[in-house]
Amino acid sequence: LERIIIVNLSQNEIQFRDVPNIGLENTGRALALSLLKEFVPDNTDYFNENNVIVITPGLISGTYAPSSGRFSVVTKRTGGGLRSVNLAGPFANRLMSLGYLAIVVRGTAPETLPVILVINEKGAALKSMPAIRYQPITETISYLRQEHGKEASVIGIGPAGEHVLPLGTIFSTYPPGKPEYFCVRGGMGDAFGNKGLKAIVVSSEKEFNANIVNPEIFNNRVKELTAIIREHPICGKALPSYGSITLMKILKNGGRLEEDNKPLQQAESSTDIAERQNTNQPKVNRACSVNCPIGCLNRHTTAGISPFDSPFDSEAFAACQNYFGITDQSFVINLNKKCFELGLDSIEFLSSCALLMKINHYQNAKEGLIQLLEELRLVSPVGRILGSNTSGIYSLYAEYKELRQMVTRKATSEHANFKVQIPNRIPGVESLSEMEYLYSYILAAQNIGMCLFTTFAMIDNPEALTLLAQLATGRTGKRVTPLMIIQSGYDSLLKERAYELDSMKAGMLDNIPEFVKVLYRYFGREKQ
Ligand code: SF4
Repeated sequence: LERIIIVNLSQNEIQFRDVPNIGLENTGRALALSLLKEFVPDNTDYFNENNVIVITPGLISGTYAPSSGRFSVVTKRTGGGLRSVNLAGPFANRLMSLGYLAIVVRGTAPETLPVILVINEKGAALKSMPAIRYQPITETISYLRQEHGKEASVIGIGPAGEHVLPLGTIFSTYPPGKPEYFCVRGGMGDAFGNKGLKAIVVSSEKEFNANIVNPEIFNNRVKELTAIIREHPICGKALPSYGSITLMKILKNGGRLEEDNKPLQQAESSTDIAERQNTNQPKVNRACSVNCPIGCLNRHTTAGISPFDSPFDSEAFAACQNYFGITDQSFVINLNKKCFELGLDSIEFLSSCALLMKINHYQNAKEGLIQLLEELRLVSPVGRILGSNTSGIYSLYAEYKELRQMVTRKATSEHANFKVQIPNRIPGVESLSEMEYLYSYILAAQNIGMCLFTTFAMIDNPEALTLLAQLATGRTGKRVTPLMIIQSGYDSLLKERAYELDSMKAGMLDNIPEFVKVLYRYFGREKQ
């Protein structure tokens, strides 16, 4: 039987709840939404003690299904609905291998010392952990892996999250090796910091031990889907080689993947990596987890210069070029590492620096970046302003309308500018617009645990969606069709929209004028 862990930090208490019947509708982001609705009262603010953080692996995480180890971290926004980030690493696989569909974190730790949550075969426990308070992420991971085993998977926050800075984000470990971890884009480290939760450690013995009801159906499909993903020109080659920002630039130029950007970044071959691998050095990680055939880590290089560890380096490089004209690759790699050590969303850090440097007329971009990172590390007043991200900074300078365009916009802000076409859609959902079909697949993928990098190979290929449905069938023992996958994503989309609207309606009470206090007293009596 699979279970949910419910942790109450205020009460220092952990409970478990059985979930008898799992499926597309109650795993991943779909499950996270229903847990938010259950545990968070209406009109709860982001930092309110009553808000919760929900962590959910996908339906087929913890199996050898390709690229299926993604997980969602979800909470409620102030005055709105759900806020989420999606992370990778063996964490989700290990959690699902122990039979856990979700972790719900309620309350706030009563002391100022950070706590950690440890999950293993024996159950789950909360521990106070003063030794790692405000520690950089490498130290945090090494301390926790010494205590809980070198294969332990860890998610958590760095000093930026502990100081509850909006620029603080969540890290997730890779298997032991280089790179050791990444910091996800999208923040939410402040939600962990506000609760006093520094990290969650999962130290299961096995990474791929999720309960599969029908292994025969399941195992046969794993190889076939892996081959489809690996052979796709974007998933198997361009994306891991160039990273998503460079890929987007290439696609803007008409999709000429082969001609553009070759001198800048090329895929490093397995032989090159083997040569680079030296017995004294940590293992070179090619993927977040061994079940990913894409392996987008350590795949970008420029001849003679140290290679990018991950698409994050590559994206930071593109951002540095774009904002500051910096083309010094070693500088960017180093800067990105320092940002990660503090637990920062490095791309948002660069955007925030670009805005602050424009406001303050910085002349030397490299010096400015180093100086601002130091302000952030020291949590000085300037560091705190910077840490409030582009929207926080802009709110202080809103009279300068020309700066508005430098505020980071939502990923979907380009929605209206595009006419998406997915020619090979599965039949049965013709009433969905192409864009709705795209979003439905994205949400379904997050419910299932698939890395979004696989979308190129999956969404426009009914054969791939059929294999994915068969994997879900094998995992649950219940018949799942490709149509049900898209429908489940659409269902999630509708439920999230409804939650957003309900939360906004609840927030409308905030807009009633102060005079209402007089009217309460004139027309009523205070309840005893
Ligand atoms: S494609 Fe990259 S990010 Fe996605 S699961 Fe594979 S290695 Fe991780």
